[in-house]
Amino acid sequence: SQQIQFADDMQEFTKFPTKTGRRSLSRSISQSSTDSYSSAASYTDSSDDEVSPREKQQTNSKGSSNFCVKNIKQAEFGRREIEIAEQDMSALISLRKRAQGEKPLAGAKIVGCTHITAQTAVSGCLSGGLGWDTSCSPGKNLISSEWVKARSVVQKRVAVFAWKGESEDDFWWCIDRCVNVDGWQANMILDDGGDLTHWVYKKYPSVFKKIRGIVEESVTGVHRLYQLSKAGKLCVPAMNVNDSVTKQKFDNLYCCRESILDGLKRTTDVMFGGKQVVVCGYGEVGKGCCAALKALGAIVYVTEIDPICALQACMDGFRVVKLSEVIRQVDVVITCTGNKNVVTREHLDRMKNSCIVCNMGHSNTEIDVTSLRTPELTWERVRSQVDHVIWPDGKRVVLLAEGRLLNLSCSTVPTFVLSITATTQALALIELYNAPEGRYKQDVYLLPKKMDEYVASLHLPSFDAHLTELTDDQAKYLGLNKNGPFKPNYY
Ligand code: NAD
Repeated sequence: SQQIQFADDMQEFTKFPTKTGRRSLSRSISQSSTDSYSSAASYTDSSDDEVSPREKQQTNSKGSSNFCVKNIKQAEFGRREIEIAEQDMSALISLRKRAQGEKPLAGAKIVGCTHITAQTAVSGCLSGGLGWDTSCSPGKNLISSEWVKARSVVQKRVAVFAWKGESEDDFWWCIDRCVNVDGWQANMILDDGGDLTHWVYKKYPSVFKKIRGIVEESVTGVHRLYQLSKAGKLCVPAMNVNDSVTKQKFDNLYCCRESILDGLKRTTDVMFGGKQVVVCGYGEVGKGCCAALKALGAIVYVTEIDPICALQACMDGFRVVKLSEVIRQVDVVITCTGNKNVVTREHLDRMKNSCIVCNMGHSNTEIDVTSLRTPELTWERVRSQVDHVIWPDGKRVVLLAEGRLLNLSCSTVPTFVLSITATTQALALIELYNAPEGRYKQDVYLLPKKMDEYVASLHLPSFDAHLTELTDDQAKYLGLNKNGPFKPNYY
């Protein structure tokens, strides 16, 4: 069984921990990450030259060549993008203010692997105010906005190795370069997907001698960490940010609720009113997608394997069906299960002409796209991220983003939600970096509930929301501390 441990004896988060016990006090700035989203889809990459960024000699305005992006000249556009994103990420700014110059991440040298976006740039740049050092961040090859990265490099001395359209080989090259930035060695890992952690384990295990902890963002990465822990091979503490409340209940639900329509509109111009849509999986992501589609008048079906989620779908007014029952009639199929081969070739064969198929769940596993790469089917690229797959009888299925995540590949996602995730990550880094010897062992931990509550409270001023305070009598009645945590860890 998975080893999840809860750390209950957390410090008060109204005050940052003291620096006592830190190994290094060297000053620094770095890049943190939010979850894997991009503002990239709204742009066309204007850097159309064919030379691989790996071949280019690039130097930023500070004279550093410790980076690799497509076109450093785009930096000014990046700055403007970052300024827009900053407006909806005020919690990170207030986190820095509350640190009151104490710089709880002074001396932290963070190597990160995340999608590079305006939002991740904001979190990296602002969190520099928390005191951490040069950090580097390879982008995942799906996405990323060139000028955003460029800006990070130029202005904030964050060593970024990433560009839009990286090949698999480029991706690993970028990771390798990040781990090997000249004259610099990381003492924290910020990962999203586990690739960076995997690379360090495989190629540079000695780096772990200096690493104080890993903060992991994704389902897959967390799964890998638990496997390592189970096998007794995890050699530093790791924080599972993916399962924290401030991720699951916000990012998965609200982010997808807002970005599903955006992704579908941008790629297909589809009208939703009266359309028949089937959503596979009624977890957080599925709930968000269904709510948005229903609000625009779509007729929504749900498939589920779990009776609890199925019952929730029923109570929310959705018809729960097997995919095979509706596959002939639906106009749109959306997967949100975290599973594999949920839409098979058999389903694809039975879809009606012009049916749109896309994935909002896990990576690229949910739709069996490989089964469509057979000689009798013709692929026609219609737009960026839109393929028509044509059957011999002329039937077309509209496949979006080749089965990869629709919102990541084809739309923007709300900055505010990313701010919540970024703040959660920053706190996880602070906690792991400052934890006294022995608080965390070589295991995987969930963020303490109190920190989740702190992340949420930092975002409340944006809505001018006024929290009710427990009276002493009420706190006693409920058996709670007036300052929280207000819910059990499993909530
Ligand atoms: P979840 O576990 O809450 O929901 C998944 C649901 O799918 C579960 O209720 C499960 O019972 C159901 N399911 C599993 N296999 C199924 C099958 N074969 N047919 C029908 N239903 C099935 O998880 P979640 O938080 O909703 O996340 C789902 C996936 O989306 C994860 O892989 C997650 O990483 C990913 N995710 C995507 C985004 C995004 O922006 N696109 C954001 C967050 C998470």
